[in-house]
Amino acid sequence: MNISGNSPPELPLPTVLALSGGIGGAKLALGLAHVVPPEKLMIVGNIGDDFVHFGQHISPDLDTLMYTLSGTADTEKGWGLANESWNFMQALKKLSGTSGACDETWFQLGDQDLATHLERTRRLAKGETLSQITTDFCRKFGIEARIIPASNDAVRTIVETPEGDLAFQNYFVQKRCEPIVSGLRFQGAENALPTPEFMEMFRNQLLQAVVICPSNPILSIDPILAIRGVREALRECSAPVIAVSPIVGGDAVKGPTAKIMRELGHPVSATAVANYYCDFLDGFIVDFQDEAEIPEIQKMDVSVKATETLMTDLETKTVLANTVMDFSRHCGNRTFISQKNGL
Ligand code: GDP
Repeated sequence: MNISGNSPPELPLPTVLALSGGIGGAKLALGLAHVVPPEKLMIVGNIGDDFVHFGQHISPDLDTLMYTLSGTADTEKGWGLANESWNFMQALKKLSGTSGACDETWFQLGDQDLATHLERTRRLAKGETLSQITTDFCRKFGIEARIIPASNDAVRTIVETPEGDLAFQNYFVQKRCEPIVSGLRFQGAENALPTPEFMEMFRNQLLQAVVICPSNPILSIDPILAIRGVREALRECSAPVIAVSPIVGGDAVKGPTAKIMRELGHPVSATAVANYYCDFLDGFIVDFQDEAEIPEIQKMDVSVKATETLMTDLETKTVLANTVMDFSRHCGNRTFISQKNGL
């Protein structure tokens, strides 16, 4: 059966499903691709960060996953491609000036990266789905695991701030996450359909584990969970659902996760993350530094394991991925809890 629309029919059905945002999620996704046969791995990427800039459809989290898993990412910067050139940006800066409303150079687009966006946009305009295009791009980048968007429909994260609503990239990149976040909404999520191959995984009798990568729960995982039917599918799926905490030592490793949790009135803790996922969670991995939180998390009827969760190189990524897969085998019997607690 051809489950991904554009992939060869002979591909085996994946048996490990991972949900991921960009940088933090991609680190574990890379580890998983080394410990699970890559053709058995499906990674569902957040599309809430997607936007159109200079007429180009940009999918930052899908691209971070694609560049990371193909070994072409700029690991220093944390985004974009390594060995990038910047001729387009330099030419653009000359034309657009350095300030004012017409300056759109705040979002950096490398020359090679630009090719990804141009080709994606051209093919979307011709009627291909984002999922088909991503699958094809991954093949061309030499990636065996499948990376697909959470939906082929538009879901856009809107950040509510005292200065008004901001499109996600205006908040994240242009304003460097400085405005206070008073709320978030995922425009289009209520009408968006999850990608069929994503939903197909929940019907797969051979599904071994669902892994929620250590991504920002509010900005990266929540836009996936907000898509119609996803949270319910996670609650009902027969395979264990395991999450890795992105909060390490009571703080985010990188990025605005802690700031946003605080501004939305939530404790910055692994417990708060577990609490957010607890209606569908079987196992939760916390860092050794957060071991003291284990009894509190266990009260949610979730199995908890403490380990080293900081991923600094390929070895630490694969070690953590192995721990996740081992742990999932110990969380095989699903227990359900009925309450749904917000963060
Ligand atoms: P973004 O979409 O690019 O912002 O990336 P993600 O949402 O996927 O990841 C951001 C989160 O990853 C942050 O909350 C970080 O704390 C977390 N993170 C980054 N590196 C690591 C790591 O090595 N270990 C763990 N546990 N979390 C990490």
